[in-house]
Amino acid sequence: MQQLILPALLASLWTTCTGAGDWCYQSQFTCDHQCNVPDLWSHANSDCAGKKQSPINVVTRKTLKDERLTPFQFDNYQQIFRGTITNNGHSVQVGVPHLSTITGGGLPTTYKAVQFHLHWGNNGGPGSEHTIDGEQYPMEMHIVHMKHHYTDLKTAMSDPEGVAVLGFFYETSSSANRKYDPIINALRSIKTTNGDTSLLPVSLAQLIPPEQNLTSYYRYKGSLTTPGCTEAVIWTLFENPIPLSMEQLRVFSELKFHDGKPMVGTFRPVQPLNGRQVFRSGAPAILVSSALLVATIATALGLSQPI
Ligand SMILES: [Zn+2]
Repeated sequence: MQQLILPALLASLWTTCTGAGDWCYQSQFTCDHQCNVPDLWSHANSDCAGKKQSPINVVTRKTLKDERLTPFQFDNYQQIFRGTITNNGHSVQVGVPHLSTITGGGLPTTYKAVQFHLHWGNNGGPGSEHTIDGEQYPMEMHIVHMKHHYTDLKTAMSDPEGVAVLGFFYETSSSANRKYDPIINALRSIKTTNGDTSLLPVSLAQLIPPEQNLTSYYRYKGSLTTPGCTEAVIWTLFENPIPLSMEQLRVFSELKFHDGKPMVGTFRPVQPLNGRQVFRSGAPAILVSSALLVATIATALGLSQPI
């Protein structure tokens, strides 16, 4: 009898101590609040222990150039919309009209935007989820897209290529990025969990670097970075970061988790690659200019053949 009771007792203790199912970031764990930190997410969601998890550290010298990774075509990214920004207890999230789409970029089909959210550190300190050669940026934005023919993310996640997330890094700049005013100003109204407020009109295009600076990116297959950690994501990480001033970055740390503690360190640690290959875009612009250069030299040397 005792042999039966002990495991049951331990299981119930574990549930009591960790609040099983109540996942949290490492920054939220205290003796008073013993929640499921990232290393324990797999207890509640076995997918979090999968072999294709995100985020990852990108080791640039091990990336493979893939010329199929052409520039993206962003459609309706200029569309101005009135969104609602929500403190969902883990992040801030903005639902976007499904009219904005991405095509190209080596994606198998067109994907439509669903929502975007952010991951950040403490007062502008390291906070991105993905790292590049070990460098952690102060913040990372995820614009979540699903294949155009799906109507909800849940269905899209049952397709191993159902979701495409565009990841953007931030860097600290000396001057404020005024294009982010609608987002930053709204944060002051949603400091507590479940708080939401309407955004002043914004477009996705105004929140990301200009299109010509989005041709260099990394690509790999991974997962959602929060439970259930579903492995249904084609990841794109753009090299070019978005500038925000330290003051702007710090406003994110004024948000609160549901227990009233500062919402900081909202990132999952990097996960093992498990043999996955990370690709980088082929930078066709450089190839074209090299070809032109060769042609110019050939012409100068009188080597070109009349056609
Ligand atoms: Zn995310």
